[in-house]
Amino acid sequence: MHRGRRKPDWLKSRPPSGSRFTEIKARLRERDLHTVCEEANCPNMGECWSGDDGPGTATFMLLGDRCSRGCNFCDVETGGMDALDPDEPANVADAVDEIGLDYVVLTSVDRDDLDDGGSAHFAETIREIKRRDPGILVETLIPDFQGDPAAIDRIVDAGPDVIAHNVETVERLQWPVRDRRADYEQSLAVLDRVDRESEIHTKTSLMLGVGEYDHEVYHTLGDLREVGVDVVTFGQYLRPSRSHLDVFEYVHPDAFETWRAVAEEEFEFLYCASGPMVRSSYKAGELFVEALLR
Ligand code: SF4
Ligand code: SF4
Repeated sequence: MHRGRRKPDWLKSRPPSGSRFTEIKARLRERDLHTVCEEANCPNMGECWSGDDGPGTATFMLLGDRCSRGCNFCDVETGGMDALDPDEPANVADAVDEIGLDYVVLTSVDRDDLDDGGSAHFAETIREIKRRDPGILVETLIPDFQGDPAAIDRIVDAGPDVIAHNVETVERLQWPVRDRRADYEQSLAVLDRVDRESEIHTKTSLMLGVGEYDHEVYHTLGDLREVGVDVVTFGQYLRPSRSHLDVFEYVHPDAFETWRAVAEEEFEFLYCASGPMVRSSYKAGELFVEALLR
């Protein structure tokens, strides 16, 4: 365990660079599109975008850049919701096509202000990408849609390859980590519905270092397997600013490796990406394809 204000050495990363990185950045600017990779200044951009060791991955943010919720770990602005951009589904699909990504992750802010939670717009983006090239693998990281089954089914029907929904942390810490409208049982129900209604792979992520106990993480892995979740990821929580939730501890890389082994060997998840810098979509394409080939 490493407590204290200073980040340990294992969390230091080099800024991304290279011609592929510059090219993708320029394409995104041309189309005025937003990726979580850039907005969150994700330390994995170099690895994910280049796709040196497998399919290149990037995470697009849909439904605007303001969220109707305010989770205490997240840097996205809350409130003042904008109207949806009707061109966004086609624009994202064109960008994915031009950039030549093989694996794309689509995520969004929560839109509790919209009747369908933005699910139709989200589904349309999946269809536009698949229409241009059915071979592109699409992973979606969806909101809970307040548990609305019709909204979840809309995403399922659009035919993505992976549907992820993050529980973020163990049950006891849902609040104060997540917005009060988020709920552990509701999140499990979202994953359960996808698993029961389709053959689509399901995935979830937890941040470590927010004050969870080992036995709670272990219990969560059991809950996730019970609702048929295939893939789990663990990453270190990093505080985006002083007004966000404090980091409780910097979890040692060895502990992340232990959780990977527990998840894969004991709970038999299809795969588990686990490490201080791992994010939900970390090398998602590469790891997913590798796991399917195993
Ligand atoms: Fe951030 Fe998602 Fe929470 Fe909105 S719902 S504040 S985008 S983590
Ligand atoms: Fe983008 Fe996710 Fe990779 Fe970070 S981990 S660079 S957000 S695809």
